[in-house]
Amino acid sequence: MIDEKRMKDILRRYKCPHCGKLPPDLYDIGDDGETIINYEFSVLFRVYERLADELGYWPIITSGYRCLDHQKELVMNKISSTYWSVHVFGLALDVDFNSVSEVKRAVEILRKVDIRPRIGWKRYLDKGKTFVHFDLGFLIIPRYSPKLHEGAEW
Ligand SMILES: [Zn+2]
Repeated sequence: MIDEKRMKDILRRYKCPHCGKLPPDLYDIGDDGETIINYEFSVLFRVYERLADELGYWPIITSGYRCLDHQKELVMNKISSTYWSVHVFGLALDVDFNSVSEVKRAVEILRKVDIRPRIGWKRYLDKGKTFVHFDLGFLIIPRYSPKLHEGAEW
């Protein structure tokens, strides 16, 4: 279980670096009226927690949520190749490491997580970059607005 202080720190790094926004449907209201993090996102953070548990430290998040405007900038600057990155849906994290061996260790851990995240690393390592991207892109459902929630009425 990720404590509140840790979660704050995660969200600070996870929010879009260009506008500071979080995914429009990150939060929901629970049965008791409390604010909860929606299922898909909480699973992503649990994968990150699992990684941290096994590593013995929390690797630094270098990219989490990206609003579509920010992703467009990255495509125009040739930093990313696609507009519809899983980051745009808030279901991806990039975490940074100091060495190739730590990257490989992280990949081994991520491969063993039950939900089996998608893992990007080989292509980046080939370019000398020691970060790991993991995402739950397979959990994306067509919902890019907070208005599209279950039970909505108008
Ligand atoms: Zn943004």
